Amino acid sequence: MIDFNLDSEHKELQEMYRKFAEERVKPLAHEMDEQEKMNLEMLKEMQECGFFGIPFPEAYGGAGGDVLSYVLCMEEISKADASTGVTLSVHTSLCASTIQEFGTEEQKQKWLRPLADGSKIGCFGLTEPNAGSDVAGARTTAVKDGDEYVINGEKIFTTNSGFADTFLVFALTDKSVPAHKGMSAFLVDRNTPGITVTPDIPRMGIRAASNAAVVYEDVRVPAENLLGGVEGKGFKIAMKALDGGRIGIAAQAVGIAQGALNEAIKYDKERMQFGKTIASFQNTQFKMADLQTKIDAARLMTWRAAVAKDRGEAYNVYAAMAKLMASDVANQVTRDCVQFLGGYGFAREYAVERMMRDAKITEIYEGTSEVMKMVIAGSLNLK
Ligand SMILES: Cc1cc2nc3c(=O)[nH]c(=O)nc-3n(C[C@H](O)[C@H](O)[C@H](O)COP(=O)(O)OP(=O)(O)OC[C@H]3O[C@@H](n4cnc5c(N)ncnc54)[C@H](O)[C@@H]3O)c2cc1C
Repeated sequence: MIDFNLDSEHKELQEMYRKFAEERVKPLAHEMDEQEKMNLEMLKEMQECGFFGIPFPEAYGGAGGDVLSYVLCMEEISKADASTGVTLSVHTSLCASTIQEFGTEEQKQKWLRPLADGSKIGCFGLTEPNAGSDVAGARTTAVKDGDEYVINGEKIFTTNSGFADTFLVFALTDKSVPAHKGMSAFLVDRNTPGITVTPDIPRMGIRAASNAAVVYEDVRVPAENLLGGVEGKGFKIAMKALDGGRIGIAAQAVGIAQGALNEAIKYDKERMQFGKTIASFQNTQFKMADLQTKIDAARLMTWRAAVAKDRGEAYNVYAAMAKLMASDVANQVTRDCVQFLGGYGFAREYAVERMMRDAKITEIYEGTSEVMKMVIAGSLNLK
């Protein structure tokens, strides 16, 4: 039986996320983008409201929700501000969910609990200057020394690294075998000696998010910080983390697209030219009808991936399809929304130009659109 409607519990949650996003995030979005700085007080409020612990069991300090609820939150927050959206997404999908799935019981109590109860923020360090799409090209190492590991290397584009407390970082524990067998994942506290977080990398979009390079120089962590307690599982852990992360990024893209279209509708109902509103022209109406249809399609694909994950079914191809589709839609919609506002759409004063810049990254991070096609093609039994 297929039901495309949200039940009353999810509708209530959606309404709560929408209200918070409208009242607390949206008014800050422009200024945060201009200043290229996240408002940490607003983030704290989100943490206190339980937004950073949505899909985690109450037993670990979480809200006891599901992936679908998290996706609804991601859409609403990203409608208002995509930078805040990615901050939530990296913390939830890439860092905390990965600890939940692969951590030992002790690691969940020590590392997941503070992430889920809103007292700490997490980040995920996989990408390196010379290892992006090709994760197996990673060079960061973790060498066992007694009951410690010593981590050396450089990660780049680590979202949240400017203010995160917990770093989930990937390093080679065995360089003599390919990375998919020799990589391991480590839980590292921000204050561990030897970690240097560079200033944020200046960027085209999601400018309020924190995104920096992180240098690890003789960073010593106890052996108990090896995620899951077993060496050599890092590559698999990273791939699984990204599968889940893509659902969050698809929801971010849906949010950006819907947020931009809502802004364009509001503007075009008021803006008069040739004695009529722009919204009254059939060109506007037909184009907007097309865009809303595409956004709905992307949203349904995102929900399908979230529900499959909630049900414990295979979801990696659904997640890749949702991200591929939603990121493409977000780019089309935001570009058209700038056009709907004419010259004002191009002006920094109006939100649609920020949304157009923010949309681009959804085609790049957590696997580019080309990588999404590799995942999808891999499921087609073409060989
Ligand atoms: C703002 C931002 C935030 C990020 N956050 C994080 C984070 O929190 N943690 C983290 O670990 N990483 C993060 N990343 C890194 C991100 O995931 C990578 O940038 C992305 O995976 C692409 O890697 P790359 O930049 O090295 O591009 P490359 O891999 O060099 O790719 C360049 C181009 O070539 C294409 N390409 C590559 N290989 C193939 C192929 N085999 N066939 C066809 N085309 C191909 C790509 O699709 C792309 O278009 C972030 C990046 C950015 C920009």
